[in-house]
Amino acid sequence: MSSPTPESNLLFSRNPATGELVGQVAITPVDALPELVARARAASGNWRTLGLEGRVALLRDVGDRLKARAEEVGALITREMGKPLSEGIGEAHDCADAWREELDEIARALAPDVLEDPRSRSTLFHDPLGVCVAITPWNFPLEMAHWMVLPALVAGNTVIFKPSEETPLTGQLYADLLNEVLPSGVLQVVHGDEVQGRALVASDVDLIAFTGSRAAGRDILGSAGARLKRVILELGGKDPMLVLDDAPIEAAAKFAARNSFRNCGQVCVSTERIYVHASIHDAFVDALVAEARKLRVGDGLKGEVDVGPMVAPWQRDHVLRQVSAAVAQGAKVAFGGEGHYDNFVMPTVLTEVTHEMEIATEETFGPVAAVVRVRDDDEAVEKANDSPYGLGAVVFGADERRAADVGRRLNSGMIGINRGVGGASGSPWVGALESGYGFHKGVEGHRQFTQLRIVTTRQPLPAG
Ligand code: NAD
Repeated sequence: MSSPTPESNLLFSRNPATGELVGQVAITPVDALPELVARARAASGNWRTLGLEGRVALLRDVGDRLKARAEEVGALITREMGKPLSEGIGEAHDCADAWREELDEIARALAPDVLEDPRSRSTLFHDPLGVCVAITPWNFPLEMAHWMVLPALVAGNTVIFKPSEETPLTGQLYADLLNEVLPSGVLQVVHGDEVQGRALVASDVDLIAFTGSRAAGRDILGSAGARLKRVILELGGKDPMLVLDDAPIEAAAKFAARNSFRNCGQVCVSTERIYVHASIHDAFVDALVAEARKLRVGDGLKGEVDVGPMVAPWQRDHVLRQVSAAVAQGAKVAFGGEGHYDNFVMPTVLTEVTHEMEIATEETFGPVAAVVRVRDDDEAVEKANDSPYGLGAVVFGADERRAADVGRRLNSGMIGINRGVGGASGSPWVGALESGYGFHKGVEGHRQFTQLRIVTTRQPLPAG
C-alpha cells in the first residue's frame, strides 16, 4: 500500500495489514528519463558484444544470492503487499531455485537456428532489440519482474525496469541483486506510478514489456502503436472454472477455494467465475463453503494465515463495490460477504450470479468466487466464452477426455484439466483475446525479446 508524495519526491511503501511504514524510495523525475534512456543505449554495445554465453555466465550465480536471502525477500514481499509469509518466501524460492534452469532455457531458445535446402543455408539469429522497458504489477512483485527482466537481459537488451508503486522496495532489491554483477547502465530502475510508466512508454526505447491491467495495456498499445514500437502485454483475466456433471465434487471444491482465495484472489489466473452443472450445483456450493470456512484471514506476518489483506484501500473498495452491486441485482451470499475490516476482505462465495452483473464479466482481483448454475456443457462453454478476457480456464470432470474436449472449446490461452493452468516445464505463459498481446516464458516467449534476423548463403558455398 504505497503513496506517492510528489511534494517530497518520495514514494512511501506501507504494509497493507498494519499501515506500518516499510520504507521509501525516491520518485524518478520524468525529465530524468531521456538521460536514463541514453545511458541504457550507451551500455548496449558492450552488453551485446559480450554474447549470449558471456551474459549467461555473468548471471549464473545471482540465483544463489537470491536463495541465500529468500527469507528476507519473502518477508519484504509480505510487508509490502500482504500475502502470507510462506507465499512470499515461496515466491523468492520459485525464482531462485529455477534460476540456472531458466538461464539455460533462455540460452537454448536464443541460440541461432540453421535451416538448409539443396540451394540455400539460412542462419536465424535472435538479436537484441536494444533498450527494453519492463513495467510490472504488485501481486507477484518479484516473479513478474523476474519473468521479464531476465530474458530481456540475456537476450542482450539493456533494461529500464519500473516496479509497481505498491512494491517499489521488492523491485529495487531484485534489481540490486542483478546489479551486483551487471555492468553499469545495463539495468536501471525507475520509481513512480503510471506517470513514470506512460513517460517510459513514450520515450525513445525499442520494446515495452508490460504485465498489468487491461486498461493500462490498452493505453500502452495506443501510445506505442503510434511509433510502431514493439510491445509484450500480459494483461488481466476473469478466469472461468467449469464443473461438469461427473466432476469429483470434493476435489473441485478444494481447487476452487484455493484458486479463488489464494493471494486474497489477487492472481491473474484466479478462478473468478464457476459454471456448475445444475445436477451437482448445491453439493458443490456446500463443499466450497466448507473449504472457505477453513481459511484463516489475517496479517501475513503473524502465525498461520491463509489469506492476507488486499493490497490497498482502492483495491478493497473495487471488490466490495462489485459484491454489493451483484447482491443488489439478485446474487446470494452463500459465505462471507461481511466481517471485512481495514484492508481485510473475507473470502466470499456468491451464487445465483448472472452475466448481467459486473462481477461475472469484469476482473474482480479479490477473494470472491461467483457461482453460476448451468444446464449442460454447451451452456457452460458459451458463458465461459462470453468475456473479453482469455487468460486461463479450468475444467473439472471425472472423464478426463471429455473434460479436455470441453477445454478445447474455451477461448483461453492456458487451460487446466482437473488442475491449475500452469503448463509443463518450458511452456509459455500466454493469454488469448484481451488478456494477452504477446506473451513470455518458454522458447516462443523468450524470443519475443529479440529481433529475428536471417542470413542466407548459397549452398554449397562456391569454392575460394
Ligand atoms: P496496473 O496496470 O494498474 O499497473 C501495472 C504497472 O503499470 C504498474 O507499475 C503501474 O505503475 C504501471 N502503469 C499503470 N498504468 C500505466 C500506463 N497507462 N502506462 C504505463 N504504465 C502504467 O496493474 P496492477 O494493479 O499493478 O496489477 C494488477 C493487474 O495485473 C491485474 O489486472 C492482473 O490480472 C494483471 N496481471 C496479469 C498477469 C499476467 O501474466 N497476465 C500477471 C500478473 C498480474
